[in-house]
Amino acid sequence: MKWTYGYVFLALSWSMNGSAATGTCDSQDEYILLLHGGFASAPERVERQHLDVLKRAVTVGLKALANGATALDVVEDSIVLLEDAGIYDAGKGSYFNSEGFVENDASLMEGHTGRAGAVAAAQSLRNPIRAARIAMDRTPHVLFVGATGEATLIELGAEAVEDPKSYFKEYRPPPPQEPAEEHGTVGAVALDRCGNLAAGTSTGGTPGKMPGRVGDSPIIGASSFANAKYALSATGKGEHFIRRAATHDIAARAEYLGVPLQDAADYVVRELIGDMDQAQGAVIAISAAGDIVLSSNGYGVMYGVGSNILAATVGAEVKYD
Ligand code: ASP
Repeated sequence: MKWTYGYVFLALSWSMNGSAATGTCDSQDEYILLLHGGFASAPERVERQHLDVLKRAVTVGLKALANGATALDVVEDSIVLLEDAGIYDAGKGSYFNSEGFVENDASLMEGHTGRAGAVAAAQSLRNPIRAARIAMDRTPHVLFVGATGEATLIELGAEAVEDPKSYFKEYRPPPPQEPAEEHGTVGAVALDRCGNLAAGTSTGGTPGKMPGRVGDSPIIGASSFANAKYALSATGKGEHFIRRAATHDIAARAEYLGVPLQDAADYVVRELIGDMDQAQGAVIAISAAGDIVLSSNGYGVMYGVGSNILAATVGAEVKYD
């Protein structure tokens, strides 16, 4: 099968006056927040509720960035808002695995320091992305897995829900929508007024996955990836994003080949994962130079975006050529 492709792209560029700086995050005027709410089979089938939540998340995050919050904090807090909404495949609304329970994956990365944190197959964390932040900030490690990993992060301050069976409610959209198609993984990338970047992703994974299966979302360089120039987050068939080291590959192509970020993302998402792997997926990406990119291979993705010059905007986009 040959995919036909669709994507939404908002291109904004501006010259950056400031350089990467530490401190109060007021060294430049420019800031960006780009979120994804995962899969949407077609724009007309997306519920208003999803877009409203994305809009709220972008609006809150943009205000924080304008006030000098760090990209890392805004990425984390935006994802918390989406995890708590209960309508995405992340946090409260996560898909159940084939045994009927939730195993959450999440990761977070800060561009200018290269610091990262992640958690995989967590069964009781209220906000997996906060646990990823704890892994980053309070341990010398990156990725914590399974029951012992979760216990370590809870010991260090991650919040566990008392009764996972009653807390997690696999989200089911109202009829006539297809439950398996209408909600997805969440992700965020941000540029702050220090000129620093961050990326994060959170998911319950694929619906009905095998117990213990871990997707791309907690794998640095497969889904979340950030360095001093780029920040990226992926959604789609995780196995393929892992095999392709997808988001790291996009950043490396853009940097080493000198191609535009959009072209690098389209090559990996469309040609490698789409054409060659026959798998669906999408990536959001921004650069410190002001690029805003969404690349999809026919996989419809809900997004929310805003910047110092672009008011909070949300949408769902599937355009087939
Ligand atoms: N990438 C996620 C995973 O494979 C699923 C998704 O983004 O829809 O776990």
